[in-house]
Amino acid sequence: MRTSHPVGRPLRPRGKLLQEDARRHHRALLLQELFRGRPASRADLARSTRLTRVTVSDLVGQLVDEGLLEELGAPVETRVGKPPTLVGLVPDATHIVAVDLSPADRMRGAVLNLAGEVRARHEVAVDDARGAGAVELLHGLAAELIARTDRPILGVGVGSPGVVDAFGTVIDAPNLGWSVEPLATDLRRTLGLPVYVANDANTAVLGEHTFGGADPDGGLMLIRVGIGVGAGLVLGGALLHGHRGAAGEIGHVVVDPEGERCACGRVGCLETVLAVPRLRQALGRDGADVEATLGRVGEQLGGVLAPVVATLNLHEVVLAGPAELLDGALREAADATIRARTMPISGDHLVVRTSTLGDDVVLSGAAVLVLAGELGVS
Ligand SMILES: [Zn+2]
Repeated sequence: MRTSHPVGRPLRPRGKLLQEDARRHHRALLLQELFRGRPASRADLARSTRLTRVTVSDLVGQLVDEGLLEELGAPVETRVGKPPTLVGLVPDATHIVAVDLSPADRMRGAVLNLAGEVRARHEVAVDDARGAGAVELLHGLAAELIARTDRPILGVGVGSPGVVDAFGTVIDAPNLGWSVEPLATDLRRTLGLPVYVANDANTAVLGEHTFGGADPDGGLMLIRVGIGVGAGLVLGGALLHGHRGAAGEIGHVVVDPEGERCACGRVGCLETVLAVPRLRQALGRDGADVEATLGRVGEQLGGVLAPVVATLNLHEVVLAGPAELLDGALREAADATIRARTMPISGDHLVVRTSTLGDDVVLSGAAVLVLAGELGVS
């Protein structure tokens, strides 16, 4: 069991590593091939991973023994001569416990398999639980989820609001009353399982990257619209952290200096117009023109995103949050604004869409934290 966290390193193995890491690296290369692709023969795997046939046969044998891979017989079309045997990943070989702490009123949990399919769910109301009480609630939820599967557990992944460091310590999450809370260390000690904790927006972008049909090479930015507004970025297959781990904090970029006061003390932050409670309030005002209001907020969002899209040459911008607010005039206006304010090379192939994972985007991402950390796949 390792104590470090997968974030901060590339999600997928790349390049040469030291000798002692070679075996783990080779294993991850092979699993990644089968995780992203279809079942393959040993010869296919040797070609695609550039490992030797001997290394591949050896690793496949070991992974079949462990139950992570299974022999699937020969493909129908090649039954001439000696047919190659295909091997594939066994999605339910092991399960992952995932928890989403981002909703204001509850902790959502699920058991997922290796293909990201939800096998069981459970949630608990947060009520007034804060600090140690909230930690206790999370421990109870994790234990309950573990009890809901008869498969071995690969690990536990948690998406938390607030700033989370590379070791899974929540530095600051005011809603849950946490300040320098060593969540991953505590859970790991109690459960005896690998535990990964990351910020909810970073977790969400990993979910979209792996299970949301995003371009696997990244160039992906996910904007999470909830009580607050945050973003996560995957570039070149790796999560972006920034100098102090605060990459993606676009919610407090000022869009209207004459606007409303924000919780951070500034005036007119993006969050004051786009956060769900503020947006619903604006739409509920007497005489509010719903389409025009959504369009104006979308334009403000597009104004914040345009320089980011141009700087990083992003491929996809994904909005995650209530679809009835985001998927319509707001998304269209954001899309049009980004295109109008950037060069065609930035905007021509840009995709601005809503998440395909809906409310489960953080749960899916929490599973990816475990997949990346334990198997080296994403
Ligand atoms: Zn602010």
